[in-house]
Amino acid sequence: MLACLGRSWKRAAGPRPRFSRDPTLGSTAVDCRRPVRVTPSLHHRWHRWHRWHRLGETIGLLSFAFPLLFVAGCASEVPDPPNVVFVSLDTTRQDHLGIYGYERDTSPHLDALGGRGLVFDRAVAQMTITNPSHATMFTGLYPRTHKVGENSRKLADDFLSLPEVFKNHGFSTGGFVSGHPLRKQITGLSQGFDHYDSEMQRRRNGEDTVARAIEWLAQLRAAETENPFFLFVHFYDAHGPFRYRAQFNDDFVSPEPGKRAAFVQEYQEITDIDGNPIEFENHFVDRYDVGLRYQDEQLGKLLNVLDLNDTLVIVTADHGETLFERATQLNLNHGTSVFQEQIRIPLVFAGPGIEPGRNDRLAETTDLLPSVLDLLDWNDTFPYPLEGESLFSETGRSSRSPAFASNRARTKQHSDRGYQLNHESFIHSVQTTQWKLIRYPGLEQEYLELYDLVADPLEAENLVPVEDERLANVLPGLKQLLAGWSGDIEMGEGPELSPEDIEQLERLGYVN
Ligand SMILES: [Zn+2]
Repeated sequence: MLACLGRSWKRAAGPRPRFSRDPTLGSTAVDCRRPVRVTPSLHHRWHRWHRWHRLGETIGLLSFAFPLLFVAGCASEVPDPPNVVFVSLDTTRQDHLGIYGYERDTSPHLDALGGRGLVFDRAVAQMTITNPSHATMFTGLYPRTHKVGENSRKLADDFLSLPEVFKNHGFSTGGFVSGHPLRKQITGLSQGFDHYDSEMQRRRNGEDTVARAIEWLAQLRAAETENPFFLFVHFYDAHGPFRYRAQFNDDFVSPEPGKRAAFVQEYQEITDIDGNPIEFENHFVDRYDVGLRYQDEQLGKLLNVLDLNDTLVIVTADHGETLFERATQLNLNHGTSVFQEQIRIPLVFAGPGIEPGRNDRLAETTDLLPSVLDLLDWNDTFPYPLEGESLFSETGRSSRSPAFASNRARTKQHSDRGYQLNHESFIHSVQTTQWKLIRYPGLEQEYLELYDLVADPLEAENLVPVEDERLANVLPGLKQLLAGWSGDIEMGEGPELSPEDIEQLERLGYVN
């Protein structure tokens, strides 16, 4: 039990003293157990029983009373270790969520969770394609290292992934995914799960996925397992094609003209869609927001059966989505650039030991696994160095750490920039809290773009051609950072795909 062992679970992100056990307590820290007079093994079982009691109570499966015997002293405090729930919101851009200031009420349940947890304001995905981004979350490694550079690559068994870490520590592990790229046959991310549910054709609704996840929790409870659980839930409801959801349509239909109509004509010509281009654009943004709201409703159902007193909940996204910001073809998309609307993602930690608040340091999805190891005090158990850094320790990610991102150079998507891109190579970017450098691979030369993210958050003005002493001082450092980090991403092995799988990936634009 954490409190009895003198361990601090109050965590705020950033430099802070590392936990050290109180040597005066050691393994004989039994004082706070005395009120209930239980042996360590009974005590351990009580934690498990208590955990399932609370879960079952919330789910509505248990009807018996909680024995008063155990409601005493230290025994009612946080179990050790907590359950862990990791939620990935596919295609969820940060700035369309209430917790990040969006004016529409797209995310009331996530907002409430964030109010009880720690919210990272500058979280960045390292690649904006589903399978590679999840591989980075699960391994703490960049795509160049885990070699899942596109959806049709499989994470090799050699890597120790997040669910395997939990499995090795005695957790029951369950994964429930909603999108084709994370199907077991394709992803390689199912390793380490006792139960990995990816039964679907192209996708499935969050409602279905959450119901399956809650059923799995109920089965664990019924089996009276003593293990804590690690649950991974992946939502796909914000991913295109954007669909209206009758339940929420009335809340998100725009009566006002859009602000970015200049791009719509081009998009219309490409897609041969009839109708008013302004309405057309608005309807797509509306439909994206409807998807976010529907997704959040399902997230709320999941959160409703969890007890944040004994469950660490982490919510993030694999990437965002371009919604008409760029004058390019297919500008309703992701996996096409490293612009902010595609790489900035939500990141929330809530539960035992997490001090509520906000943090504005740059965070990467590579940091998720190191942060979990740090929070659970498992750093010493991981066999090789990770490229991410803990968001919760003084030796981890600092306020000056940069963030990197990559994507394959898709020539068509950058036709407006006039660059002759080498589509066999990758676009790379590095950003600090103010500056961002993007490097495009050309057929004969590379192209650089520099943006001031504070003055120009939409990345509209490339500052590379601007002669300015301040920029002259900034650019060399960023170029050096990028040169030291980037390079082409060598692809690993692909799974054996059925013709149906290939067709699905092609339909999503993911097979090159
Ligand atoms: Zn995705």
